[in-house]
Amino acid sequence: MPDLTPERRRGGEVEQGGGTRSAPAPRTSRLPAPAQGFGVTFSTMFKKVTTEQYPEEPKVTAPRYHGRHVLNRHPDGLEKCVGCELCAWACPADAIYVEGGTNTEEARFSPGERYGRVYQINYLRCIFCGLCIEACPTRSLTMSNDFELADDERGSLIYTKEQLMAPLLPGMEQPPHPMRLGDDEKDYYLRAPGGASGTTQ
Ligand code: SF4
Ligand code: SF4
Repeated sequence: MPDLTPERRRGGEVEQGGGTRSAPAPRTSRLPAPAQGFGVTFSTMFKKVTTEQYPEEPKVTAPRYHGRHVLNRHPDGLEKCVGCELCAWACPADAIYVEGGTNTEEARFSPGERYGRVYQINYLRCIFCGLCIEACPTRSLTMSNDFELADDERGSLIYTKEQLMAPLLPGMEQPPHPMRLGDDEKDYYLRAPGGASGTTQ
């Protein structure tokens, strides 16, 4: 291990092997130093400006950018999440917390047996790797292009299920409500809304 005593580190420089400081590179231009310096400034004035005018001009991300998560719905408004916790187990940052609940005929939130009763993502931990959305068996969890997640309060960066749920689109109904697209959960995945074979979005 090199000897980095205060003497050797003085002035922010570390002496090279042999105990001698490296000499500055010899000047190759015949122009005086101030002219060289202003030359750099002048040539930079004509280069393409890369400054982002954010937030006045929000940056457009790549289509597959990994941003804020979304919990999606079936076309009738029922939730795709079945509370299986696979996303939480897949997360390397331990950023997801899920508690499943049991659907009843009186209060149904998703097709099938279970739904995500509690769902939280801690954006202080999330590294936006996308492993959680790969693990989700129902395509409930996806990632949007929204990157505006900064806040000055730690607690507000733990997003709840209500914040993550996709909005209700026309034709959707706020759960709980009965299954509208078939008699059991298989109809939601094996049959399109019109009755044709296929998967729902
Ligand atoms: S994107 Fe990665 S770090 Fe963030 S919640 Fe999903 S698995 Fe965890
Ligand atoms: S988001 Fe997907 S993986 Fe996570 S609990 Fe819900 S269904 Fe399971």
